[in-house]
Amino acid sequence: DTADTVAKPATNGKTKHHKPKQDHRALAHRLRGQRESLPIFTARNAIIQQVRQHPTVIVVGETGSGKTTQIPQYLLESGFGTTAITQPRRVAATSIAKRVAEEVGTPLGGRVGYTIRFEDCSSDKTQLRFCTDGLLLREILSDPLLRRYEVVILDEAHERTLRTDILLGMLKDIQRERKRVAELNQQVPDAYFEEEEEVSYRDHRSHGTHVTFDEPEEEPMQPEAVPSVIDNVHGDVTGIGELKIIVMSATLDAERFSAYFDSAPILYVAGRQFPVTTYYTTTPQADYLDAAHLTALQIHTETPSTSGDILVFLSGQEDIESVEKLLRDSAASFPPGVPALLPCPIFAALPQSQQSQVFDPAPEFTRKIILATNIAETSLTIPGIRHVVDSGVHKVRGFDPRVGESLLVEPISKSSARQRTGRAGREAAGFCYRLYTESDYAQLAEDSIPEIKRCQLSMVVLQLKAAGVTDVMQFDFMDRPSKKALKHALLELYALDALDDRGELTALGRWMSEFPLEPSYSKVIYASQKAGCTREAIDIVSLLSVDSLFYVPADKREESNAAQAVFRSTEGDHLTFLNLLRAYNKVNGDREWCQEHFVNRRNMKHVLDVRLQLNRLCARLELDTERSCGTDLDAVLKCFLSGFFHNCALLQPDGTYRSLNGSQAVHVHPGSSMFAKKTPAIFYDQLVFTNKLHARAVSAVDPMWIAQASPKLYGRLNTTA
Ligand code: ADP
Ligand code: MG
Repeated sequence: DTADTVAKPATNGKTKHHKPKQDHRALAHRLRGQRESLPIFTARNAIIQQVRQHPTVIVVGETGSGKTTQIPQYLLESGFGTTAITQPRRVAATSIAKRVAEEVGTPLGGRVGYTIRFEDCSSDKTQLRFCTDGLLLREILSDPLLRRYEVVILDEAHERTLRTDILLGMLKDIQRERKRVAELNQQVPDAYFEEEEEVSYRDHRSHGTHVTFDEPEEEPMQPEAVPSVIDNVHGDVTGIGELKIIVMSATLDAERFSAYFDSAPILYVAGRQFPVTTYYTTTPQADYLDAAHLTALQIHTETPSTSGDILVFLSGQEDIESVEKLLRDSAASFPPGVPALLPCPIFAALPQSQQSQVFDPAPEFTRKIILATNIAETSLTIPGIRHVVDSGVHKVRGFDPRVGESLLVEPISKSSARQRTGRAGREAAGFCYRLYTESDYAQLAEDSIPEIKRCQLSMVVLQLKAAGVTDVMQFDFMDRPSKKALKHALLELYALDALDDRGELTALGRWMSEFPLEPSYSKVIYASQKAGCTREAIDIVSLLSVDSLFYVPADKREESNAAQAVFRSTEGDHLTFLNLLRAYNKVNGDREWCQEHFVNRRNMKHVLDVRLQLNRLCARLELDTERSCGTDLDAVLKCFLSGFFHNCALLQPDGTYRSLNGSQAVHVHPGSSMFAKKTPAIFYDQLVFTNKLHARAVSAVDPMWIAQASPKLYGRLNTTA
């Protein structure tokens, strides 16, 4: 029950709902023994000493050794200032912050807090802030030197997510800049300050008499020949100290990080691993969901439930929800004597309120079956696992300039497979069931390709530009994305009017960079002002932020189709979703109503959260969020085209759709309301590759609208049409 009370965000500093301080302290006291028995504890002093001596330190340690939860606390205990710890996923940031707050003995949101997109549980007292890598990247836009932090920890660096990679480059630059400023501050003779009352460095906001070091006569204070790409440092920089960077990784290939940070020292933390027996299937499995379900059941019925919980690795939320359902159905018909099972999903978008059951012990005579994405591979340590079921797949972003970005379910790497197996041997000897053959394993790639080499770059290029990186081609990438991909991103931003024809950020581009959204969405919101449909635009953008709004159980396809017909718009999914939201609001998200209509209530709640936050952000930018176009819904679709003109396909004489920019065959997803319908032109939110390219969230549009939406890209179309 203590866990529940500390889980409540205390953003406003009110402690009314919290148990008295004593309870936090008592829990922390109880956890102290656990903390001190972690492998990393013996390395505590060595780590602190290295961090004191070097600007950057690389820490490598097996999952569960204590890197994420302990190192931030060691820093806190040793008197370091505010520290940011980045995680690639929201769920990791929130649940680890909760755990660390418990260990420190403070309410969450106090000394220990988290900030993720659309959710802030921190205060000005927060000294250890867990956040997503994307969030820290955004923070650089408002605080270019990240002056509020003394230390930044880049966790899970081995995952090489797009945003971690960009952060690596930005932080390297910020570190250099802060060193320069710190040295400058020391060099400035005291007498110099006595001459003038107000002294500031490139302070564009202060008034009255002041000296700016930009003037030529301040020659010695000028930046040295350090080729800094950050060019927009404002404000007073006196008193700024150096930035410490800690890069943490769960895999051994840390030399590259070290080389990137001027031969930073690498600290290896010993792990603790019990043997794991690994099994392969004898034949390839046609349906890994079915195989995962059956394997989990088999383990559950054939081993005593006291022999540990089961962790199943799947590719994403949809997989997880189908296996969850299969397991619940099977459990309903267990003969007497079979212990109960409790499926516990965990994936990046899972609401905070539902996360804790993964970590809490199961009720008596019940076994937990945790259904996870690769979030449980290295980010989260879930206690009690002895059996791992590995589907062998994960979901990744893929990019092809001819079709743009798509999501793919792909085989994992050997390195991932080994990590997944390792999760079974954290507390005792364990078992891992790989749902693929041994020869399939032999053919897996050694490591995954860094995301930056395989995804769309427009959002990060926009952020780099907004952070003052004028020449993104020259940015110090650890792994350089292809020129083609960078050019594609620049071209897309140009077509969206975020960049001008010299490649410089436009006023619109700066405005768009304020949104924690892909540029296409912020462009839609921008266009909605003029069209007078901001309310509808925000609603639909929020609705598109989740994987699926409906449940379509395989055995009830017709039933669910019929129930959902009431929402269906002839113009396609965007307006269908809007109808759903309106109906959902009318019944206040009633649970039974959701069941009757096969609406995914969990995801609808997330949609409402996103909508609230987007409304707040828009209000701050002085947008009228209540402007509605009433029944003129064409206006809404036209707004969407102003951001999604690159996601269009035209109907061909043979009845198929071909993408407008690459002439690739595009199939409407079977779950779409546009499935099997023929209309001259469609646009879509996203492409998903399963056996072929499937467009998801599809709407019908007039081909002329496409040309009007982007004269820069399709001007030619305009004249020939
Ligand atoms: P690393 O970052 O090296 O993978 P962590 O710091 O995440 O390791 O975890 C260290 C240990 O803390 C784990 O082995 C586990 O015993 C414990 N732990 C972490 N999170 C939780 C939690 N939410 N509940 C219980 N124990 C936890
Ligand atoms: Mg960790």
